[in-house]
Amino acid sequence: MSEHSGKVCPQSRPGTEPYWQACKRHEFLIQQCKECGNHQFYPRIICTSCSSRAVNWIPASGRGTVLTWTVVRRAVSNAYAAEVPYVIALIKLQEGPVLMSIVRGCEPESIHAGMTVEVSFEEWSDQVSMPVFVTTSG
Ligand SMILES: [Zn+2]
Repeated sequence: MSEHSGKVCPQSRPGTEPYWQACKRHEFLIQQCKECGNHQFYPRIICTSCSSRAVNWIPASGRGTVLTWTVVRRAVSNAYAAEVPYVIALIKLQEGPVLMSIVRGCEPESIHAGMTVEVSFEEWSDQVSMPVFVTTSG
C-alpha cells in the first residue's frame, strides 16, 4: 500500500481529461483563450473573459505565490493522519489564475503570503497523480 492509499481522489469528468492525463505525465496544464489570451483555471468550456469557446490547454509555468492559507491539524480520515499538520493554500499562478492546493516543504508556522512555490506531483493512485506545491523561497 502506498502512503497515499485511501485518500479521496478526484474523478476525471468530461472536459477535465486532458488536465488529469497531463498530471499523470507530471505536466501542469491550464487553459488559454485563443481569442483574447486569457488564462483560466479550473477548466471551463468557455473563456471567462470574452465567452469564446476557443479555449486551449497549454503548459503552465507551475510557479506561483501563496495568497493565503490554512493549517489542517485534524485528519479527515486515517489516510491523512500521517500528514497533519499540513498546509492548504490559495496560490496565484504566474499566469494569473488562482487555485487551491496542498503546500509541502515547509513548517506550517513558516508559511507566509508572497512565499513562492512550484508544482510537484504525488502518486495518489494508479490513475491519479495529484499536483501539490512545494516552497521555493523562505
Ligand atoms: Zn477570451
